[in-house]
Amino acid sequence: MNFVLHGYAVSGGITVGYAHLVATARLEVAHYEIAREAVDAELARFDRAMQAAQEELQALKAHIAADAPKEFEAFLDLHRMILNDSALAVAPRELIRSRRANAEWALVQQMERLVERFDEIDDPYLRERKADVQHAVERVLKLLMGGAMGTTALAEAAASEEQKLIVVAHDLSPADMILFKRHRFGGFVTDVGGVTSHTAIVARSLAIPAIVGLHHAFQTINEGELIIVDGERGLLVVNPDPVVLAEYRERQTELKADRQRLKRLKKTRATTQDGTPIELYANIELPQDIGEVLEAGAEGVGLFRTEFMFLNRKDLPAEEEQFEAYRQVAEGMQGKPVVLRTLDIGADKAMNGGEGAHVMPNPAMGLRAIRFCLAEPQMFLTQLRAILRASHYGIVRVLLPMLAHAHEIDQTLTLINQAKAQLEERGQPYDRAVQIGGMIEIPAAALSLPIFMRRLHFLSIGTNDLIQYTLAIDRTDDAVAHLYDPLHPAVLTLVANTIQTATRGGMPIAVCGEMAGDLQLTRLLLGLGLRNFSMHPSQLLPIKERILRTNLSEVQAAAQRVLRSTEPAKTRELLAQLNS
Ligand code: PEP
Ligand code: MG
Repeated sequence: MNFVLHGYAVSGGITVGYAHLVATARLEVAHYEIAREAVDAELARFDRAMQAAQEELQALKAHIAADAPKEFEAFLDLHRMILNDSALAVAPRELIRSRRANAEWALVQQMERLVERFDEIDDPYLRERKADVQHAVERVLKLLMGGAMGTTALAEAAASEEQKLIVVAHDLSPADMILFKRHRFGGFVTDVGGVTSHTAIVARSLAIPAIVGLHHAFQTINEGELIIVDGERGLLVVNPDPVVLAEYRERQTELKADRQRLKRLKKTRATTQDGTPIELYANIELPQDIGEVLEAGAEGVGLFRTEFMFLNRKDLPAEEEQFEAYRQVAEGMQGKPVVLRTLDIGADKAMNGGEGAHVMPNPAMGLRAIRFCLAEPQMFLTQLRAILRASHYGIVRVLLPMLAHAHEIDQTLTLINQAKAQLEERGQPYDRAVQIGGMIEIPAAALSLPIFMRRLHFLSIGTNDLIQYTLAIDRTDDAVAHLYDPLHPAVLTLVANTIQTATRGGMPIAVCGEMAGDLQLTRLLLGLGLRNFSMHPSQLLPIKERILRTNLSEVQAAAQRVLRSTEPAKTRELLAQLNS
């Protein structure tokens, strides 16, 4: 059957490919005791589901097209092996017999035991295999719970088509998502999540089409089904008919040609038509991302979200490991500046999946980012020393997230001095003039800028959180995703005033939230006085092209009109005029 699902586009472009269902094994399963006389029937039900899962995997393998990505076959083999293991094939039977657990519950219990053991493994590759165990079990659970997993679409797939795997998940944490950086997938779609959740941000950094908030994708799509991810409009087309497929293929070709054309701008200076230079920086999550940053011709790294190094592990990265990672970026950027943000852990980026941590009733407003770091000064000092040491190998700047109070800055500056003294004692070099900046991402900070300007060297507006906290919408919750609005007068006023006050005070100011990479907002931000943008490398060239086609004197007055508008429809109309 062919159908379309609507969600929120988080990363543009179009991918045609085959669904690869990925679960984080948080599927709710029924948990009940079966009658003594039902044990044999339950055992048979379990065996049938295990057998059917094996057959499905076998059938999927038999139908893989010759040019399919190698990962697909490897997944299938690995999942078959996992299901053959006695820990999953035999042990649950014992739980059904002795505890009279229903088959689903017996299987999940066994899976959890197995997964716990994975957490204890040091080797990151093996540790990652935990997800494969969860996915293999998920397949059996789906069968036990009555969902059929078809293989027909894959069988019908035209062997000549470009074969790509598209991850279809109910939910993915940023920690799950960062692991996908190592695989080559064609796209990502999830049922839940907001457009500025960190999961979406990582998806965007992968520069492949992605959609969140589809609600029913994981339930309704089968493994191997042909799907189209329209990351431009947030549409997912399942089992497209040939006409639709042909249209999308054409659009894909056009987009590819556009990307190719934009590459010519790599070395062009981003200057408006009236000759004002604009600085374009890139956001990264991992040291390995700098290849794309250089490829995009960025002037430096405007935001290195260092917390991603702290995810998917039980221990904390030691000073030496952090130093090596930061140095790699500082050196790799070949004399271009790198803004290293100190640990912004908490909220949707919980360490160790939140396990063992104090459960916060409202994590986005809890002990996150600078608050967490100041509560854990030894851990913070370790990171500060590692950053300072890396500053000797390039141009490094330090950025502090989630500031609201003067005392948070003062305490951090004291810790930075302490870290410097420790390095002096050890005789380790660092840049003595290292600049310290602050993120303006809490409305309170935007409304009390002098506190920040007096103490810091530069500012960077985190619009993702600024919008979340100004409009009181959880950025990870798709139920309120429609209320996320960068054009809300309150948001625009905070952003505009921050840019203006900082600029008048001679303080460098950037935007590093997702607004900086939104083509629809480039002229508006330029008109409001922004001269420094930091975004995902993939967005840099389209934004540069827009800047090259902008005349500042023309957009300044228009931007003020957008800012003054209090009618949403009028605001959108004015923005459209600005962009025309
Ligand atoms: C922001 O809040 O806009 C930002 C850049 O930081 P993060 O998205 O990592 O919270
Ligand atoms: Mg933020």
